[in-house]
Amino acid sequence: MDKDNTIFFEQIRPMRDEIDRIDSEILSLLARRQKQVEQVVALKKAHSMPVYHPAREEDLIYRLRSQAKTAGVDPDFLEDLYRVVLRQSRIKQTRKMELKGIRPGASVVIVGGAGQMGGLFARLFSRSGYQVRTLDREDWDRAGEICRDVDLALISVPIEKTPDIVAAIAPLLPADAVMADLTSIKKEPLAAMCRAHKGPVMGLHPLFGPTSGSLDKQIMVTCPGRDETACQWLVEQLGLWGAVIVRASAEEHDQVMEIVQALRHFATFCFGDFLYQRHIRLERTLEFSSPIYRLELGMVGRLFAQDSALYAEIIFATEERRKLLKEYIDSLSRHLEMLEKNDKPGFINQFNQVANWFGPFSEQAMRESTFIINKLIERF
Ligand code: NAD
Repeated sequence: MDKDNTIFFEQIRPMRDEIDRIDSEILSLLARRQKQVEQVVALKKAHSMPVYHPAREEDLIYRLRSQAKTAGVDPDFLEDLYRVVLRQSRIKQTRKMELKGIRPGASVVIVGGAGQMGGLFARLFSRSGYQVRTLDREDWDRAGEICRDVDLALISVPIEKTPDIVAAIAPLLPADAVMADLTSIKKEPLAAMCRAHKGPVMGLHPLFGPTSGSLDKQIMVTCPGRDETACQWLVEQLGLWGAVIVRASAEEHDQVMEIVQALRHFATFCFGDFLYQRHIRLERTLEFSSPIYRLELGMVGRLFAQDSALYAEIIFATEERRKLLKEYIDSLSRHLEMLEKNDKPGFINQFNQVANWFGPFSEQAMRESTFIINKLIERF
């Protein structure tokens, strides 16, 4: 080692020692934070309060971002770091909360319990101390016995079968049992439940699939049917499992879902189908691609990796949905004219009108999609 190197190592050692000390401090601060969070969990558990508190998290991030600016730390970096810390803390909390039952010992029958969503909820209820019974296709000869004295009947069967199954199961339930369903549409199933069952009724729509490991931050739409107070324990239980509850009328839910699910899935299906018709070499396009194309193709590929029957159910669910999708196709053929006339000014005019209509959302869209694209670049 020459003299220059020796001086360098002598000078850098105390600096590295200081960094190591700071890292240990960060670690012990994280451990202290974790202990403090455990006290919060204990309190939340005692009061059956939900894990996720969106306003509290957003306030915290907002405050930390402005503190970061003052301290000369990149606010995006600090936000990234804190999102990881907060997610970790929520997952820990959720795991502890998952075990807590609002009404442990109560009996839950899951109709369609052998299916994917039915299985997920059977596991969640069991882990929280409920007595779970399942009723699937082969079990109807024992249905009376399975439904005896249940506190909740959760219907998790294909959409088109829901009204008939609701009608068949309702007479077997105690009058005060809660009847709820997981169907992706809400108007018809909720009306069917209210017609068939005279007790408390609640429509649910989980905006997540059966593969989600936990309910952390997952959206659950709740549509009150009858006697909301008697259904409250179920809503609280979902909150304890980490779900974010969005309350809506069945009509509003179905209208919003026409856009959020039916239109989006159908447009994605059309895009994927067009690539297929053209025998496009996907791998080759990816080699040339911008991250945004990779992201979009990922969304298309994701759709085709899932169950066709489930998406057919969602897209073809109601007359209103099919009507909307036909209108969508009509709107595409209007653009055909633009192409045939090589009408660039017309395109620009329409583009600007839409951009104007998107308004402030465009800024949010840029921010959020840039975040996702950066993550994608980081990983792939
Ligand atoms: P699935 O096909 O996995 O499960 C349906 C279950 O219903 C099966 O076990 C089937 O045997 C059972 N079943 C069918 N006919 C029956 C009958 N006559 N009596 C008793 N059981 C019967 O479907 P899934 O994906 O679990 O969906 C169930 C419900 O959840 C649907 O209403 C769907 O809209 C809703 N949902 C699904 C998802 C998802 O991503 N899978 C998301 C949100 C909501």
